[in-house]
Amino acid sequence: MQYFDAHTHLDMKHYDNDRDRVIARARDAGLVGMVTSSTGPGSFRRTLGIVEKYPGLVHHSAGCIVSRLTPGEAEKIVVLTRRYASQIVAVGEVGLDYYWVRDAGARRAQEPLFLRFIELASELALPMVVHARRAEREAAEMLERHFDGDVLMHCFDGPREVAQQVADNGWSVTLPANFSRYRNRREAAKLLPLTQLMLETDGPYLSPTSGRNEPANVRLGCRALAELLGLEPQEVAKVTTDNALRFYRLGGP
Ligand SMILES: [Zn+2]
Repeated sequence: MQYFDAHTHLDMKHYDNDRDRVIARARDAGLVGMVTSSTGPGSFRRTLGIVEKYPGLVHHSAGCIVSRLTPGEAEKIVVLTRRYASQIVAVGEVGLDYYWVRDAGARRAQEPLFLRFIELASELALPMVVHARRAEREAAEMLERHFDGDVLMHCFDGPREVAQQVADNGWSVTLPANFSRYRNRREAAKLLPLTQLMLETDGPYLSPTSGRNEPANVRLGCRALAELLGLEPQEVAKVTTDNALRFYRLGGP
């Protein structure tokens, strides 16, 4: 079977001791690609190095840590993304985070930064990977107003109405390997057509097991999704992999 991890963070320190083995395990597990999301200027540079080492297998999506982003950092990420645009497959994760950020003023301050990245993705004609936590509705509204390109709502955990909005807009959702523990995610998985679903790990986070998460675990998400939809895992693996290759423009069907 062929799998694709549509969102992970391979540059993080959790992988410093065994990054090559983690990537080798992913390849052995049948992954034909993974998109690693950088989360700031330092992370961006580390990610360039990792991607260079695994051409055709590891791809770079340039983003931030939404809840901790400052205007100065956003500006640096914009400059780097423009400079290395030819080596980047998407802008993100970027978005709105109301889970960690509770203050109304601080929440509002995220909007111009998100808009900056929406404009960047438009300018570079790249798809967007969106982090919207407890702010799915607000993020969807900004995207509808300002963005024409392809959108992936990563780790989507929003209510049913927003899942429907995502489906109607032709956007995609990624399900983490442990998605079946969350009601909203199970509902989104059933509501969206399979052609708008992808699998991710968000490794090292959101582990479906007790340990650290890693790309090879997309297999577990695939199995859970197949079970939920009453489909063969082979079919789920094939369609979600094709979706990711198409979304990130990696020569998919
Ligand atoms: Zn992430």
